[in-house]
Amino acid sequence: MESNVRVRFAPSPTGPLHIGGVRTALFNYLFAKQHGGTFILRVEDTDQNRFVEGAEAYIIEALDWLGIPYDEGPERPGTKGPYRQSERRDIYRAYAEKLLATGWAYYAFDTPESLEHHRKEHESKGKTFIYNWHNREKLDNALTLSSEALQSRLAQGDPYVIRFKWPVDQVLVLEDLIRGSIRIDTNLLDDKVLFKSDGMPTYHLANIVDDHLMAISHVIRGEEWLPSLALHVQLYKAFGWEPPQFAHLPLILKPTGKGKLSKRDGEKLGFPVFPLSWKESQGYREAGFLPEAVLNFLAMLGWNPGTEQELFSKEELIAQFSLERVQKSGARFDPEKNKWFNHHYLQARPLESLLPEFRQELSRLLPDAGPFEDAYLHRVLGLIRERASFLWEACEAGRYFFEAPATYDEKAVKKQWKPETPDRLQAVAEVLSVLDEFSGERAEAAVKEWIAASGLGFGQVMPPLRLVLVGAMQGPHIFDIMELLGKGETLSRIERAIAVLGTTQG
Ligand code: GLU
Repeated sequence: MESNVRVRFAPSPTGPLHIGGVRTALFNYLFAKQHGGTFILRVEDTDQNRFVEGAEAYIIEALDWLGIPYDEGPERPGTKGPYRQSERRDIYRAYAEKLLATGWAYYAFDTPESLEHHRKEHESKGKTFIYNWHNREKLDNALTLSSEALQSRLAQGDPYVIRFKWPVDQVLVLEDLIRGSIRIDTNLLDDKVLFKSDGMPTYHLANIVDDHLMAISHVIRGEEWLPSLALHVQLYKAFGWEPPQFAHLPLILKPTGKGKLSKRDGEKLGFPVFPLSWKESQGYREAGFLPEAVLNFLAMLGWNPGTEQELFSKEELIAQFSLERVQKSGARFDPEKNKWFNHHYLQARPLESLLPEFRQELSRLLPDAGPFEDAYLHRVLGLIRERASFLWEACEAGRYFFEAPATYDEKAVKKQWKPETPDRLQAVAEVLSVLDEFSGERAEAAVKEWIAASGLGFGQVMPPLRLVLVGAMQGPHIFDIMELLGKGETLSRIERAIAVLGTTQG
């Protein structure tokens, strides 16, 4: 059965998509897919002053990277296109005129200077200037002009706007799927501009007309649009259309929980707020996050399943998501939690799927090392991935798999390198050099046998051995490392450390 659920993500291409915008897209997508409905991308680019070159392509690439594909939108036409408002500009005037004809809207000629003057004057008396019932009949608009005067001003090309005319003394009861009923006194609302004499609609008119023409059933968007809800619902009434259902998602808050998350918070605390890099701001993709991790943590920003479960595949999210479980209050953004999710998904990925990116990270870190075979990278990653939250982190931590240590951790040298250490390691090297089959297991047996026979303790041999192979006191099981490095490299690292650190240290 064809579903009637049609939702849209309607970004304005004014810059990169903020992580909050991505969450809005995600919640729309989850809701649509759960109901077998349609997820639409509509580009709201009517405001040419704020248009930013490349922003639309950025938005599409970000949705694509995250696996939030839209069903209808630019380059994926459905039956209700076009999906860029700039390509729909001829549609809107007729609707503005309809509102003029039915008395829901009126022409206004006030210049920006005169509006500014009124605003200042009000401010000086400690009041706020609202263009509405209170003063609209004292301002320069069609409500006070005869129809001849109006026609002549239009004919002489006076710049105008078309404003919505709020009815007086009404209490509206608006319904929001997340917030319940909201009561609004129409006397407090301003007569918003719907259309301008440059022939372009404002956001409000274009948005409502398009939602109607695109048969949108549910409007799911950020809380910042809640103040526009009354106007939007009233516009539906004015046109005689059935309004969609509305759901306003909670704000995303700073890590401190106080105030809205901003780009600056990311810069200050060192985490991305954009899905992909944009100019000098690093995106989640470039910071090494996996799309499934980003998707999962975004889903938890304001929604919860009502259980302790935190890890969700996209399919599970589609099955379990519900607007009823979206919270009203702001959702605190926790960068540490994001890392936690990434750590989880990095472990969950089949190793093979990580190799191309691991190789990339490696060539960034050590452009001159290698070449390394896939099988080698696979085994290295298998040993070191457990502790890493990012591939670049694994790469840095496992650097010694790709080049011999250039330096040795000073503290470790102080602690582990004794005057007798070179002789001991020399003996270990001899034991290893005679092995035919250089597996971790064989090496371990041989070295342990030698330690026992020499009457030494493990602590006198194993830590210095790690130091010479790794350069520091870290890493997985030392014999696993040896096996991967191979006999030649293991022996040469021992030789090199003896030469560099000598007998006098410690
Ligand atoms: N163009 C608006 C934005 O940039 C869309 C708001 C809405 O979804 O109605 O977010």
